[in-house]
Amino acid sequence: MVFTRGSRDDWDRWAEIIGDGAYSWDKMLPFMLKSEKLVQDSENQTEEGHIDPSIHGHDGTVSNTAPYNNHPINEMLMQTTQDLPDEFPYLLDMNNGSPIGIAWNQFSIDRNGERSSAATAYIEPAGDNLHVLINTQVTRVLHVGDDESCFRGVEFAADVESPKKQIVASKEVIIAGGVIGTPQILLNSGIGKREELEAVGVTTLIDNPSVGKNFTDRVSSIVMFNTTIQDTDFDRDRALAEWNTTRTGPLTLPGHLNHIVYLRLPDDAAPFSQEGFTDPTPGENSPHIEMVYSQISAHLPQTSIDIPSPPPGTTNVMIQLFVVNLHPISRGSITLNTSDPFKHPIVDFGMLSEPLDIAIMREAFKRARDLYSAPAFQDSVFGTLVPAGNVATDSDIEDFLRIASAPYLHAVSSAAMSGYNAS
Ligand SMILES: Cc1cc2nc3c(=O)[nH]c(=O)nc-3n(C[C@H](O)[C@H](O)[C@H](O)COP(=O)(O)OP(=O)(O)OC[C@H]3O[C@@H](n4cnc5c(N)ncnc54)[C@H](O)[C@@H]3O)c2cc1C
Repeated sequence: MVFTRGSRDDWDRWAEIIGDGAYSWDKMLPFMLKSEKLVQDSENQTEEGHIDPSIHGHDGTVSNTAPYNNHPINEMLMQTTQDLPDEFPYLLDMNNGSPIGIAWNQFSIDRNGERSSAATAYIEPAGDNLHVLINTQVTRVLHVGDDESCFRGVEFAADVESPKKQIVASKEVIIAGGVIGTPQILLNSGIGKREELEAVGVTTLIDNPSVGKNFTDRVSSIVMFNTTIQDTDFDRDRALAEWNTTRTGPLTLPGHLNHIVYLRLPDDAAPFSQEGFTDPTPGENSPHIEMVYSQISAHLPQTSIDIPSPPPGTTNVMIQLFVVNLHPISRGSITLNTSDPFKHPIVDFGMLSEPLDIAIMREAFKRARDLYSAPAFQDSVFGTLVPAGNVATDSDIEDFLRIASAPYLHAVSSAAMSGYNAS
């Protein structure tokens, strides 16, 4: 996975909202450094110009590395940072707290070209200090003792047919069921909005209308450019054999390409200066837009986005680029539709329900076209195939985005933290 810390302004805003300075960038950075182990990639390529080792941790347990392949687009993107430095500056390290520009991507991959994760970094080395119940689902957390807010009990079962079991923690229970599972557990436990819980027959123990609300995911869409740049296709069987033997080759990278682009819109960008929207980001260190590369190929990428077909007869190789609104203000929700904890809750992404979010996506789309109109691409990129080149007005672009957008699967905030004693 992409190894990303976010911007210092994002952390600082979070700390401010919850009223706890411990979550600020400056206070969190030592923990980021402590957990990280920056390693050289499995192909022993130079890190110079790709990453700034001085701002990384080297003795932690989660591996980070910046593997890359040699592809002509690398040079073209780097050239663009020189030709158009105001719009597309060069960013030596995407994890410097101010991620704005074109950077070489970083990934949670270890020295051996294998995925590094919470499981490899923390569970494997934990020894007897940790027990993991696999194939087990938490159905509720349980109120224990006189304090009405104390939920130290956990109820769980293997499946809907199995008997439910209960345990009580001596100190505390941490619910980490992810952006859907966490509110589902809380709601099934009677912690949520009273009327909604009553509607599905769950007894309310704590009437907290915020649980399951504020569900927020980034929005992504795709843009594909007609190009003569060499494709990134490879023979998967051969690549797997190479990775198995020497831990080298295309499968040392999660994707086909090497760069990530973070853009901050200027104050005079149309959404703010012409349409009057308030900047949704927390500050000048935060990008509005991310661009990530999928591949250069005549084949369409695997994605949940409903990609409109390229023009009939198109067999062209295309640069395939995802554009992402990083600070959407649209909000969705997670709601129970039954008191059965083994049934899925209702997931409403609420995507693009706020006009600002579409305005930012429109800018993202235009910036993608700017990027591939840069001098370095003049002889090798020839406009968009998806959407068609004549999709040019704001309303055309919006129509396209409403068809060809999807959640970016970076959702947060459905069980958001709040300050102490928040109402
Ligand atoms: C396709 C995809 C690609 C992504 N790529 C990146 C990336 O490159 N970089 C990045 O930083 N982020 C990426 N993300 C986002 C990142 O994965 C999430 O933000 C992160 O995993 C959230 O961590 P979490 O521990 O909160 O929840 P999760 O990782 O969702 O973990 C929650 C766990 O709780 C379990 N669970 C849920 N309910 C119950 C229950 N009732 N009982 C028992 N267990 C339960 C789930 O099975 C799951 O194992 C990606 C996400 C997706 C989906």
